[in-house]
Amino acid sequence: MSTTHITLNQINTLPRAEAAALLTGLYEHSDWIAEQALDARPFASAAALKHAMVEVLNRAGRDAQVALVRAHPELAGKAMVTKSLTAESTNEQSKAGLTDCTPQEFAHIQQLNASYNAKFGFPFILAVRGPRGAGLTRQQIIQTFERRLDNHPDYELAECLRNIHRIVEIRLNDKLGYQPTLGHEVWDWHEWLAQFSDADDALTVTYLTDAHQKCARTIELGLQACGFDDVRIDAVGNVVGIYKAATENAKTLMTGSHYDTVRNGGKYDGRLGIFVPMACVRELARANQRLPFNLEVVAFAEEEGQRYKATFLGSGALVGDFKHEWLDQADADGVTMRQAMQQAGLKLADIPKLARDASKYLGFVEVHIEQGPVLNERDLPLGVVTSINGSVRFVGEVRGMASHAGTTPMDRRRDAAAAVAELALYVEQRALRDRGADGQCNAVGTVGLLTVPNGSINVVPGRCQFSLDLRAPTNGQRDLLMRDVLNALQTICTRRGVHYTLEETMRASAAPSSPQWQARWEAAVQALGVPLFHLPSGAGHDAMKLHEVMPQAMLFVRGQNAGISHNPLESTTSDDMQLAIDAFMHLLHNTHA
Ligand SMILES: [Zn+2]
Repeated sequence: MSTTHITLNQINTLPRAEAAALLTGLYEHSDWIAEQALDARPFASAAALKHAMVEVLNRAGRDAQVALVRAHPELAGKAMVTKSLTAESTNEQSKAGLTDCTPQEFAHIQQLNASYNAKFGFPFILAVRGPRGAGLTRQQIIQTFERRLDNHPDYELAECLRNIHRIVEIRLNDKLGYQPTLGHEVWDWHEWLAQFSDADDALTVTYLTDAHQKCARTIELGLQACGFDDVRIDAVGNVVGIYKAATENAKTLMTGSHYDTVRNGGKYDGRLGIFVPMACVRELARANQRLPFNLEVVAFAEEEGQRYKATFLGSGALVGDFKHEWLDQADADGVTMRQAMQQAGLKLADIPKLARDASKYLGFVEVHIEQGPVLNERDLPLGVVTSINGSVRFVGEVRGMASHAGTTPMDRRRDAAAAVAELALYVEQRALRDRGADGQCNAVGTVGLLTVPNGSINVVPGRCQFSLDLRAPTNGQRDLLMRDVLNALQTICTRRGVHYTLEETMRASAAPSSPQWQARWEAAVQALGVPLFHLPSGAGHDAMKLHEVMPQAMLFVRGQNAGISHNPLESTTSDDMQLAIDAFMHLLHNTHA
């Protein structure tokens, strides 16, 4: 590889043909894309150049897009065997170990190539250097290949194009001699924390398990190593680090997110919002720089409500909303939360002291992986959140009459599961009716649990346990949705002659972003040369709880794989992490106490 690197300044200032010559080889056999992007010069950053190239391809239309995909070699295909790949592709395919396939792997990939081409009519494209740029394993490549064969053709074309843009991102980094160094490190921190799990074959970290406590201790050590002045694990298991202001009695900016996960979750959900500010503080501490305010980073112990029905326990404690009745809840093994906390050495008596005095705070900001497809679809690394949807959750049970499936006539049944199924269909139809001013569906309703305890193939279900999760952008809209759904439950149960119990387990208000903090995120995103994009949050976040006492605003980071989350496929790149770190640093330097 060449050792002389090009610079953004050259791309911006050289005559067009010379600048275009510097960008050859970025898009496989398709230099026209980079060349046309030069119309948008000057570029504020490499990210701006990348986005300009994405836009050129978006405007070029489907035929040009398919032609670009077809300009790529098959993965570990004939071109690799006959050594007729471009230099760039040779580098990528060999870095991913594709040149060292076993005969069986090689044969399997050839078969996948054939099936893929037959279905889609273009070759499978994967950025084999992966989200960290270091190369995916052959197993990861083969699994991704198998998974993507099931996609819809339109989706798969878009996914190929996104992978091409990712390939180009890495090729451009190589040309510029640029590495997202902090992004790489933060990416690695996620890997490091993901070694602790309640399960052997999945990432599961639930409240106060052994793995959870190891995570807390690891984050505590990490905060110390980064140069925080005051680090502690608080009475509910939150890990808190304070980087002190330049002056005494300064106000405090709080940030952070959660380190617990759902069962079989992703590595970035929550944790990204802990590690991004940690990296910033480490850089500040190394440079001996102090901010005009204290920066308090909180790694929240519990957000997901998995082991106990106590969602937002960690952030709730900071706003004085730790519910005493939670302590008597037992987990699936009969261990109460009180016992779990005592075993972990937490001082229950200190919980009330965790409530923060909001008058001492400037506000709360949170970085989080988007957990949705919007930024990925639009090829945008960052998005500024306008508000967090309000939500309400219930768990319930319908009781009918268990009876013989063969002898109970259809008109004399009291089928508990059928009643819940009818409710689930109602929820789907009702939520679908809510649309925002832009015509997009903006409410969601889900029956995620539907269980027949001790059910049997030849017994009419006598009991059915279920859950209900309803969300909308405003509290008023959420409450109307809830009212209709609860009325429907009543109507369905009355008509079917069954009874129900229902327990509200969580209610969170919609949390519009503070205009000032949202503006700081906007300025930060724009300073990076990244297009400014706004979106609401469909998921609940710790910022919702802090919103109850102080202004807040969130920044979303693009997820790969269509933004899938609460799933091991959740992924984001070290390049996007670097942008999030840069944005956070910009926000810190542009906040005045
Ligand atoms: Zn989360």
